[in-house]
Amino acid sequence: MNEREVKILTDRLIPVPQQLEFKDGAEYILKEKCRVTVTICDYSGVEKTVKELFKLFWGITPDLSVKGRLLKKSDALESYTLEVSEDEILIDASSNTGVMNALKTLRQLAEAERGVAKTESYFLVQCAINDFPAMAFRGIHLCVFPETPLWDIERQIRIAAYHKFNYAVIETWGIFPFESHPEMCWADKKIEKSELKRLIRLGQDLGITLIPQFNLLGHATASRSITGKHAVLSYDPSLQSLFEPEGWTWCLTNPETRRVLTDLVLELYEFYDYPPFFHIGCDEADNIGTCRDCRRKELKDLVRDHICYFHDLFAKQGTRIIMWHDMLLQTGDERWKGYIVCGLPEHKLSELYKELPRDIIIADWQYGYPKEKSEDPEPHWPTAKFFKSEEFPVLVCPWLNQDGMKSLGRFAAEEKLFGMLETTWHISHDRSFAHIFCTAAYASWNPSVNPGVTLSTRLSLAHHLRQLGWDTGIDEYIKTGWSQYQVDPGHHPHTVI
Ligand SMILES: [Zn+2]
Repeated sequence: MNEREVKILTDRLIPVPQQLEFKDGAEYILKEKCRVTVTICDYSGVEKTVKELFKLFWGITPDLSVKGRLLKKSDALESYTLEVSEDEILIDASSNTGVMNALKTLRQLAEAERGVAKTESYFLVQCAINDFPAMAFRGIHLCVFPETPLWDIERQIRIAAYHKFNYAVIETWGIFPFESHPEMCWADKKIEKSELKRLIRLGQDLGITLIPQFNLLGHATASRSITGKHAVLSYDPSLQSLFEPEGWTWCLTNPETRRVLTDLVLELYEFYDYPPFFHIGCDEADNIGTCRDCRRKELKDLVRDHICYFHDLFAKQGTRIIMWHDMLLQTGDERWKGYIVCGLPEHKLSELYKELPRDIIIADWQYGYPKEKSEDPEPHWPTAKFFKSEEFPVLVCPWLNQDGMKSLGRFAAEEKLFGMLETTWHISHDRSFAHIFCTAAYASWNPSVNPGVTLSTRLSLAHHLRQLGWDTGIDEYIKTGWSQYQVDPGHHPHTVI
């Protein structure tokens, strides 16, 4: 097989497997009763998974053999090996998750038969693949704004799972209708809870766990400060005492704040089926500690008690909290020059990290690519290094900068960090969509091979979205591709014309 053929086939794979070899010879035909052998440690559910996915992907039922084997030291939950020969597919994995990953890879490689008017079968070139993730946590952070339709979130969950992300943090911005506190939701923008529940269960089926986020410090408005909106206070002035006077940050001296927040986070936690992680936000709490009672207290003590309370609340349930890093480091500190930190000198929070439990996962959001002025421009990412050296598990969190995504992926793998959480915020459409679902997917699974967005990888992404559309029977124009409209799609992706 020549170099061009290898490149064409490799560009179809997002992410690229760790070891991959294509072979010459007759192709394997995906047809009724084609031979598939799965060797696996944990049998449970594997036959159902393989048969369902073959039916969904290619409309066929394979002649499937399942063989058992003992767990090996080298086994990881999500790893797999694949061998495709002329007459058989061999899959080896320790778990059902690994088998699902193998099938996702095969779907990306399979090509529709040639030379016919109507596609009825697919084929695979012969290959050998040994694949495993570079990091344990590969997450995507998705925001559900009042403007975001849930079909768009479903589409992103599906493409994230197809590209082997294993977690999706879901930040709902004032649209979740809490039973315990209905006033914490926009009255005219609440979502159908049953729809969100369906997405949580869908994630479980696709191999991606949905993690709820609720902001326990700043962003208490459930909006961004630049909009001047506030999910609660815009309509109900009686709730003002729960917040600092400007309404941006929760008031930490008011015991009622903690009571309300406890109700909210536990309701979300239960609704998400008790996930292993809960994201508590905690970024950009600029006006923290400004009311009469808070400003007369030691802010560090208030924030520590607040975070530790919620840490303990979740620890009792066996769940770990994730928090953004920025308030823990101080602006003006030369060590972080060129990197994002948000603690102000007057907050005096720069020593707070010393008093926090070391199983809190620090999500270090760095959205640029701060070049070094030496021969090697690669950023040093000192904030992530710092939290690692202080023995916190660390997630690196890029946004749209492709060089930043690639560099942070390599860095997380080299430093053996906990993982990566790709953020999307309000720009998860148009050209940015490809950066997020190509470059970040490569960066978090196998950062050593990251072509980023090229002409061909962008086409592969479009093809993958189309395949997922077939799974759900999408037949509406605006739900295809990554922009709702082709003419004047605008900055806001979900405008209804
Ligand atoms: Zn206060």
